[in-house]
Amino acid sequence: MLTNYHSHSHYCDGKGSPEQQVQGALAQGLRAFGFSSHCPVPFENQWSMKAERLDEYLAETRALQAKYEGQIELYVGLEVDFIPEMVGPSDFPMLDFCVGSVHYVGLNQFGQPWEIDGSSVEFLECLDTVYGGDIQKVIQKYYGIIRQMVETDPPQVVGHLDKIKMHNAARHLFDESESWYVAEVEQTLQAIAKAGITTEINTRGNYKRGLELYPSPWIINRMNELNIPICINSDSHRPEEITASFPLAYQVAKAAGYEEVRILLGGKWQDVAI
Ligand SMILES: [Zn+2]
Ligand SMILES: [Zn+2]
Repeated sequence: MLTNYHSHSHYCDGKGSPEQQVQGALAQGLRAFGFSSHCPVPFENQWSMKAERLDEYLAETRALQAKYEGQIELYVGLEVDFIPEMVGPSDFPMLDFCVGSVHYVGLNQFGQPWEIDGSSVEFLECLDTVYGGDIQKVIQKYYGIIRQMVETDPPQVVGHLDKIKMHNAARHLFDESESWYVAEVEQTLQAIAKAGITTEINTRGNYKRGLELYPSPWIINRMNELNIPICINSDSHRPEEITASFPLAYQVAKAAGYEEVRILLGGKWQDVAI
């Protein structure tokens, strides 16, 4: 049973309308599909939904939910940024669900929220200028913010847990087997397990950049040992990406020992066999 609860449309940085996404989801055989445009944030950036479009987004996706009833289950959500003391999941109580993601770590050299999810050139400039290249310090801050989200303002789904690793492709910054990194991931997984929050296996890095899944398979193994529920999401930015790299994600989940995914179905989060 295929589902995807992490998707973007032209309301943020995705291509195509919400209805084109639904058509894509139907064509790819999904049982349930969640809309999750990037939430508005209180500063300028290149990819979030503008605050003044939120009402229109909610109305349009709710109307689609009704229109396609009986064909596919649709859920209205957002990918919510967690930025301490600025924005988080609890700011959007009108949703069916949200994916909570950390895309910003502190401030950059211009005094703006530092985007760790965009271009590696800009990431590395700030890393060198503000942090003297100390990746360990940055990554500890990054996972610290994820733990703060999980502990103080939990989403239904934790988004792309280890996405910050993507900059290793531009410059080798760290090795995932380094003990400080393993310890940081472990502490974060312990917090997620304690809170009982579903964590996605996100395929976008794989089909977009040829990287490993987010998170890496060794982390997915450990998640299974800690009984952390998973769902498998593509973070699609085009209708045709909705199930991209899903076979790999299911294969890795099974190899880690997962027999179930936790999905939103019939209005409830429930465990279904893979
Ligand atoms: Zn994201
Ligand atoms: Zn996303």
